[in-house]
Amino acid sequence: MNKELLLRHLRNVPDFPLKGIQFKDVSTWFKNAECLTELVNALYDIYKDKGITKVVGIESRGFVVGAALALRLGAGFVMCRKPGKLPAATHKMAYGKEYGTDTIEIHDDAITPDDVVLIHDDLLATGGSMRAAYDLVRLFEPKDIYVNFLIELRMEGLKGHDYLAHFIGEERMTALLTLTE
Ligand code: AMP
Repeated sequence: MNKELLLRHLRNVPDFPLKGIQFKDVSTWFKNAECLTELVNALYDIYKDKGITKVVGIESRGFVVGAALALRLGAGFVMCRKPGKLPAATHKMAYGKEYGTDTIEIHDDAITPDDVVLIHDDLLATGGSMRAAYDLVRLFEPKDIYVNFLIELRMEGLKGHDYLAHFIGEERMTALLTLTE
């Protein structure tokens, strides 16, 4: 993976959406064809032999690369969405995040016990949103669940990696870049 290319094109926005947050703006990756290809190729290399049948993307930045990766893997794509967006019957889960609290939902027929699932999001901060998505996916009792982030933040006070590794398992989690500032 071309880490230098990705680091060069990632925009950091200080104090967004709240003072003290260093916001990693992945839109500067998504708009760049070379970066987008790099992200999808890197993830394809990691997951091509895992038998993934469904990629679950977390709204909304998890949809972009999640859907592209699903296409490459020959898997289906499932949306984990903010409340009130999904039209049919859903399962819901509330969670706390780096800033504020939220709820996510998934259609209650989105996954089957035969699926091998990869849950994908752009970034790991506290791990709250991935924990909620993981708990939603577990309700379907799929064969296996993997978890991926484009970026993992390991800053002062952010223990998202350890928090998730505790119940998901280190061997089922990947991140393309780990950032400490
Ligand atoms: P968390 O649930 O705390 O792990 O937060 C992860 C979710 O919030 C992801 O969907 C990110 O898109 C978003 N997020 C949280 N902190 C940041 C940050 N510093 N930069 C960019 N996105 C963030």
